[in-house]
Amino acid sequence: MTPRSAQGLLLSLIVPMHNEAEGLEVFFARIETALAALPVRLEIVCIDDGSQDDTYGRLAARAANDPRLKLIRLSRNFGKEAAMTAGLDAATGDLVVPLDADLQDPPELIAEFIRLWEQGYDVVYGVRTDRASDTPLKRLTSAGFYRLFNTVSDHSIPASTGDFRLMDRQVVDALNRLPERNRFMKGLFSWVGFTQVGVPYARPPRAAGTTSWGYLKLWRFAIDGMTSFSTVPLRVWSWIGLVSAFLAILFGSVIIIRVLLLGRDVPGYASIMVTILFGFALQMIALGVMGEYVARMFQEVKGRPIYVVRDRAGFEA
Ligand code: UDP
Ligand code: MG
Repeated sequence: MTPRSAQGLLLSLIVPMHNEAEGLEVFFARIETALAALPVRLEIVCIDDGSQDDTYGRLAARAANDPRLKLIRLSRNFGKEAAMTAGLDAATGDLVVPLDADLQDPPELIAEFIRLWEQGYDVVYGVRTDRASDTPLKRLTSAGFYRLFNTVSDHSIPASTGDFRLMDRQVVDALNRLPERNRFMKGLFSWVGFTQVGVPYARPPRAAGTTSWGYLKLWRFAIDGMTSFSTVPLRVWSWIGLVSAFLAILFGSVIIIRVLLLGRDVPGYASIMVTILFGFALQMIALGVMGEYVARMFQEVKGRPIYVVRDRAGFEA
């Protein structure tokens, strides 16, 4: 790796926002102090992801006096991944850093990210060391997800990484070329490759407001990730079918031999019921998994855009 200098380069921050109005002041104040000493120029791309509060109004007021601020307002709530995609499309920086508006991704870390980029790494990602700000249930489900994901997917993602990272222009261009509508960013970040390195940091609790992610949303998110980066759930059914068939043959032979040796045996309700119910459950699961993939193919085939922009501000004409 050859060392390089970030002196004078343009750094783009990409900030997806959904109902973040009450935290905006603190957010921008913190950004200013954290990045003041860096030798880079700044561009802040804020994406209002269909907020119901005054997020866009306040951003627009700010953008009127701050040429570094660029705003995109989506036509409705498209979800964080889509909002970030909008930001990645619009960002023009040589270095690009997506970060959360709730200050859970400490902007002070960006100095360290840049230092590692200067050493030659193309992607520098934050690794959460302490997840004290998450509930035990969230930590448990998240750890389980990473383990499962990395066993079944073709591209592993480092555990406890979020979207908070610094990316080189080349990496962003590669990401922007990925056409899929199902944007499981963590997976896409890893798929594009390049030289990557992690920086550990403690993740603080939200500065203001409330999280927009319920467990149902996280479940959808996990299924999205799994199905876009692994075909194992789809293929595993042939193995389960094979094993079931083998067991059925075994069981069938036992019954036949028993009838031959001991004569006809009428009772058998329990075993028949168990076999039928179990087989039925397996088929339902298999159908469900097919459904997940078919639904995603349907989504891709429709070819709808990932997001729809309602307003833009701060971009040159
Ligand atoms: N966010 C978004 N659209 C959504 C949900 C969240 O743009 O539908 C933004 C949110 O404003 C924040 C970031 O994504 O800047 C992370 O969201 P949040 O803090 O709610 O998630 P958590 O930290 O709990 O994972
Ligand atoms: Mg958060």
